[in-house]
Amino acid sequence: RAKLRGRNRSHHFSPDMADALYRKMTLRHHLTLALEAETFELYYQPIVDMKSQKLKGFEALIRWHDEALGHVSPAEFIPLAEETGQIVPLGKWILKTACEQLALWREKYDKHFIMSVNLSRAQLQSSLAPTVEALLHQHGIPPSQLALELTESTMLQDYDEAKQCLDDLASLGLELYLDDFGTGYSSLSQLQDLPISTVKLDQSFVQGEHKGSQAIIEATRAICEKLELKVVAEGVETLSQLHYLQKCRFDYCQGYYLGRPMPAYEHEARHFSLQNHVPGTKYYY
Ligand code: C2E
Ligand code: MG
Ligand code: MG
Ligand code: MG
Repeated sequence: RAKLRGRNRSHHFSPDMADALYRKMTLRHHLTLALEAETFELYYQPIVDMKSQKLKGFEALIRWHDEALGHVSPAEFIPLAEETGQIVPLGKWILKTACEQLALWREKYDKHFIMSVNLSRAQLQSSLAPTVEALLHQHGIPPSQLALELTESTMLQDYDEAKQCLDDLASLGLELYLDDFGTGYSSLSQLQDLPISTVKLDQSFVQGEHKGSQAIIEATRAICEKLELKVVAEGVETLSQLHYLQKCRFDYCQGYYLGRPMPAYEHEARHFSLQNHVPGTKYYY
């Protein structure tokens, strides 16, 4: 197999490559159809405030169930949509849908809920801030209740242009989160240079996948404290992980232990109760 790979590396077209290309072309085609038909859905995963021990809000995560292809993971189709530019209209739909949901929930359940939305690099254009501002206004959402998540690698191309866009968003009063912290191409100076309020430590550290995961968790907490940044732990799957993060004084936690990403109606049916309680608590919103 290795030999085959080596030989194919130059310019021969291997069956693997043909499969991958076919899959990509199929996805691309169905993505176009899905964009027209708006057959995407947003799921919402709880984010818990460790201090008040209440539900702080949700991260919106896109889901795509295609009639022909079945469930397609965002980890597969988001990068593809980024490649084709389809992420721009898709990203608009995501922002609009998340704001609509937040407005409904603020009105019906809790006016303090925060909604967190993932952004791709291509969305960081000069038109983004005015678009978001109009959306917030239309739905009567205070800017501080919308958070936008970006990854470290987002900032790789055209740093100055991206930074300008983030500065515009921040001056509207939005919160900016740095997602998947610790796995990308971060430089610690970005933490100071960009107008971010919050760091999301990548789930691989919480799950102890790296040598020295605990040291990294504790060091991240310390850096964030010094720089006056809030810190979220992602991927909390067990009670002992939660206890540990509580001991490290993380501001927020998110993960399957507390709640899976779910459609809006499921949160409502469960009265926004979490999967498992933070030790010592009873009520969530
Ligand atoms: P992300 O923004 O870092 O989102 C967290 C991912 O971790 C989600 O995967 C979530 O379902 C998963 N997760 C949450 N808690 C746990 C846990 O306790 N254990 C484990 N093993 N996983 C957990 P998902 O929904 O498949 O999304 C994957 C990635 O796709 C996201 O990573 C994000 O980069 C991207 N993505 C998802 N939705 C959107 C979107 O609306 N827009 C953009 N631009 N990207 C999105
Ligand atoms: Mg995220
Ligand atoms: Mg993440
Ligand atoms: Mg991720």
